[in-house]
Order: sequence, then C-alpha cells, then structure tokens
Amino acid sequence: MTKRALITGILGQDGSYLAELLLKKNMTVLGTTAPGEQPRSPRWLDSDVIPELMEADLADADAMREVVSGFDPDEVYHLAAQSSVAASFEDPLATFDITGSGALRVLEAVRTQAPTARVMLACSAEMFGQAEETPQTENTLICPVNPYAVAKTAAYHGARVYREAMGVAVSCAILYNHESPRRGDGFVTRKIARGAAQIARGKASELLLGNLQAQRDWGAAQDYVRAMWLMLQRPKPDDFIIATGQARSVGDFCDAAFNHVGLHWQDHVRVSEEFFRPTDPALMCGNSSKAREMLGWQPEISFEQMVAAMVDAELALLDGPSQK
Ligand code: GDP
Repeated sequence: MTKRALITGILGQDGSYLAELLLKKNMTVLGTTAPGEQPRSPRWLDSDVIPELMEADLADADAMREVVSGFDPDEVYHLAAQSSVAASFEDPLATFDITGSGALRVLEAVRTQAPTARVMLACSAEMFGQAEETPQTENTLICPVNPYAVAKTAAYHGARVYREAMGVAVSCAILYNHESPRRGDGFVTRKIARGAAQIARGKASELLLGNLQAQRDWGAAQDYVRAMWLMLQRPKPDDFIIATGQARSVGDFCDAAFNHVGLHWQDHVRVSEEFFRPTDPALMCGNSSKAREMLGWQPEISFEQMVAAMVDAELALLDGPSQK
C-alpha cells in the first residue's frame, strides 16, 4: 500500500519542495492550505503530479481533526505557521495562535485520530535567541527573543510532552534559515536576490536593507526537506538540528548575489532604519552533527549555488514573456 503523507502549509517554500520529494517516492500526498491562501511564489511546484489540496484553518481544532481522521496519514509534516519574525512583532497574538497553538492542534488531532502516525514538526533556530554558545546543538539553552520564536518554543516543548507523556511519535527539526527561489517575499535573501536582479536589468537603482552585520547559517530548502523525510524513516522519534554549520552576514549574501550579476553590492545597497528589528540575534549557526551521524544527512547544495539559483530565478521573472 502506498504511504500517505499529510503536509500542512503545502503552499509555502518547504511544503512545495517536500511535496515534490514525497510524490517522487510514490507517496499519496494531501496538503492543507490556510483559508483563501494562494501560492506565494509563481514557482510553487515544478512537478507534473499535483498533490491533493484542502483548506484547513490551523486556528480551528475541529477542522484539523477532520482532516487527520479523513485522510488517516502515515506521516504528518507540520510546516504551516506564521513564519516571519518581522511580522510577529506586528501581530504577536495571531503569531502565537497559528505558530504555537496551531502546532498543538495538529498534535492533538494526531493523538486522537491517527495515533500511530509519525509527525515532523518544523521548529526554528530562532528558539535559541541570542544564543549562549556557537554553534548551537540540540542541548543549547532555548531563550527566544521575538514573538515568533516564543510561539515556536511553545510548539517545541509541546511536542516533547506529546512524545514523552502522550505517546505521539513526533520529531522536531530545529531548522536554520533555508532559502531557495521559492522563498517568501519578506525574507532578506529573496529581497536581495530580487534587488540584485532588478538593478542588473536597470529596473531599480538601489536596495534598502536593515542590519547588514547579522549572521545567519543559510542552507538550501531542498536539502532541508530531505532531512525532514529522513527523520520520519527512523523507528524512534527524536529532535535534530538541521544546519550547514557556516554562518555568513547579510553583507556576505549581498556580495554573492551582486557578484553573480557582475556588480559591487556596496555601490547599490543602502541601510535604512526602517528594516531594523527591536531585537535581532547577531549570530546564528548550527551544529548538525547529530543529524549527519544518525540520519546520514548532509547538505548537497552550496551557498554559492543557492544564491545563484535565487538571482537567476529573479532574472528569469524579469526577462520572461509574462513580465513584458
Ligand atoms: P529570519 O532570520 O528568520 O528573521 O530571516 P530574515 O531573512 O527575515 O532575516 C535575516 C536577517 O536579515 C535578520 O537578522 C534581519 O534583521 C536581517 N535583515 C537586514 N535587512 C533586512 C531586510 O530588509 N529584510 C529582512 N527581512 N531582514 C533583514
């Protein structure tokens, strides 16, 4: 019998790559979308087979229960969230309800409707906040510094309790930033890729950014969804850091993106107070030894390849027939 995978948040960057991966493995995939949600990127899915989609509001526990009982999944990948740190400062309560309580609604639906299903919960390196050590491991102190991270921390601890005390086979992926041409609009990497492409084509003259010194461990989304799948192929649920182990600054990202189109980023990037955050972890870098040893996982797409693909995708959008 083909295995059945439920992906919440299938229209997002990770949902789309994960759906492609699971469909290639001949799994039956059902993806949930938020009410009225459209794909955030025109490059949503690059596959002939389209998974089944269903609207289900994460704020609605009954809706989540119905989806899980109707589909009876073997594997559940919970990706849906309000995933922007910047937006979480604007609306902390909605962020907590969707990103924090929403995860518990999914776990509760699994516990009551599909208790043998394995669950992968997407957690975030943001949970470490201004981390006490670098690189961070699964044992580093969790100390969130923004509303998004608070919500993810609630989901992470909730998952541990569902696993240890309530019998749900849930594993958490502590994911560091991961990017691709399908990255959502609000993230700095997409903004830089688009800015470099627009400036290269003479459609813009400058790019306004915030904190250029912030350092992030940027990986490629395609590699990270493979780790999610590997986690659920193990007999025992566990938590894993998924990271490249290399931190780069926002300025370094600009350097790679503008270099790709033969420009110097310093000639075009301007800093604007508007894009600074009240609190912003200075350096995030993860140690993924546990995932490498226990899952046999390692990143396959380099930083340079990932940045080049993002800039090329923006150039193609600008040059493509639909944009003329
Ligand atoms: P995050 O790490 O999940 O918050 O991912 P982002 O891509 O939104 O931000 C990564 C880093 O880039 C953070 O330290 C931001 O402060 C920094 N940054 C600098 N300029 C910008 C900007 O214009 N937009 C965003 N989103 N982030 C910026």
